[in-house]
Amino acid sequence: MNDTTQDEGPDTGSPGRPTTAVVVGGGLAGTTAALALADAGVRVTLLEGRPRLGGLAFSFQRDGLTVDNGQHVYLRCCTAYRWFLDRVEGAALAPLQDRLDVPVLDAEAPAGRRLGRIGRTALPVPLHLARSLATYPHLSLAERARVGRAALALKGLDPADPALDAQSFGGWLTEHGQSDRAIEALWDLVGVATLNAVAGDASLGLAAMVFKTGLLSDPGAADIGWARVPLGELHDRLARKALDSAGVRTEVRTRVTSISSHENGRWSVQVPGETLDADTVVLAVPQREAHDLLPAGALDAPERLLEIGTAPILNIHVVYDRKVLSTPFFAALGSPVQWVFDRTEASGLKEGQYLALSQSAAQDEIDAPVAALRERYLPELERLLPHTRDAGVRDFFVTRERTATFAPTPGVGRLRPGARTKAPGLYLAGAWTATGWPATMESAVRSGVSAADAALGALGRPRDHLFELFEEAA
Ligand SMILES: Cc1cc2nc3c(=O)[nH]c(=O)nc-3n(C[C@H](O)[C@H](O)[C@H](O)COP(=O)(O)OP(=O)(O)OC[C@H]3O[C@@H](n4cnc5c(N)ncnc54)[C@H](O)[C@@H]3O)c2cc1C
Repeated sequence: MNDTTQDEGPDTGSPGRPTTAVVVGGGLAGTTAALALADAGVRVTLLEGRPRLGGLAFSFQRDGLTVDNGQHVYLRCCTAYRWFLDRVEGAALAPLQDRLDVPVLDAEAPAGRRLGRIGRTALPVPLHLARSLATYPHLSLAERARVGRAALALKGLDPADPALDAQSFGGWLTEHGQSDRAIEALWDLVGVATLNAVAGDASLGLAAMVFKTGLLSDPGAADIGWARVPLGELHDRLARKALDSAGVRTEVRTRVTSISSHENGRWSVQVPGETLDADTVVLAVPQREAHDLLPAGALDAPERLLEIGTAPILNIHVVYDRKVLSTPFFAALGSPVQWVFDRTEASGLKEGQYLALSQSAAQDEIDAPVAALRERYLPELERLLPHTRDAGVRDFFVTRERTATFAPTPGVGRLRPGARTKAPGLYLAGAWTATGWPATMESAVRSGVSAADAALGALGRPRDHLFELFEEAA
């Protein structure tokens, strides 16, 4: 970076100097905030410390393969992330299933391996899940009936109620008659992947939010979407293209070291070797970095940011010399394996098949040596997928994200700040801010929209386009 002067260019703001914003952090939250501000006519500079955009959802090269750091999926109800995909012209590259269909393989069924499915019909909520629940083979008839009753009780909860945030989802499930098996084979199957915690470690408020929105709002809400291309194609290359077209100046490899305000209400953002001035700053970095960069007095209790815990996700990557799986993905029961995705096409592999195991809430294994993980997981895949028994393993490697998400523990809600700070012109974004969602791409994009909306409001700038989006996203 060597140019601190902002070129003259189109500006829809007050006469004279263009309205300027600096967005710190080029993950989904920061990229969204930058696009939303630029779309409203603000002159935006986006600063990202790493050599690429995309933050926690990125790709890298390894021996001719393009590898995602972690499998990412989204749901049809993720309206903000879907807006993002549209905005960067990437929606066709990350399509949704026509209709929810999750193959669930139980490695330990009494009569051997057993396949069930979680799916939906076109019937109205909650009948859309009735057939799937009635035929789900991994639960007894009585357990299925109790699951149905608990789902209806969940529907009556208000996820925004602070009292729910303080309670554990696991405790609530037990109180509502859910057996350990029902928790394992249904509630955790979905909840661990979306919350990154087992039910016993998760806030009831966040769990209610996920299950109500995903399973009980609209028949198609839980249809699953995922990128058929590397994540970097969407979150870095296409995002960069959209930012460039919107007139955003994007600087990667540019780590912000401090932020300070002037008496005239403007802000200075320090990067090595230079200072950028702006009317508005959006801080879209993880909570710990936000804590370190926030100027004194910007939050009433900044130390709360440090109380927000983090949770790891481990991805195990296995390249076989032949095809071993015929569905795009499946979820596993009775095995340490959680969710398995076919990454062959997206990675560019020409021969054989590349599977990625997405292991959430991976506290126990995040630091395990590769050899130990190999010894544990290859036999598990042989139990689940018989074709792997004759297949050769061409490559086996792992990606570890120790701080993949904030920990959705009971009580986390009161620690998550909103977009506005007490410092005029300074806003927060990030999946960890108070969006009501767990740490997801949806939460990140929503937070970016909220920060841009708050900033534009304070700047007296038009924000109709955002209101529409936010209403859609809300
Ligand atoms: C393995 C894994 C699997 C996941 N699976 C899913 C999934 O299936 N579905 C889903 O919805 N979500 C999933 N998530 C969560 C999702 O990726 C995140 O919630 C989301 O990407 C967070 O975006 P963000 O912009 O809030 O933060 P981040 O992605 O953390 O972005 C913050 C950015 O700020 C930059 N930065 C930090 N400090 C500075 C500084 N001082 N100066 C400049 N830049 C700085 C960082 O380099 C980073 O790029 C997963 C995450 C992981 C890791």
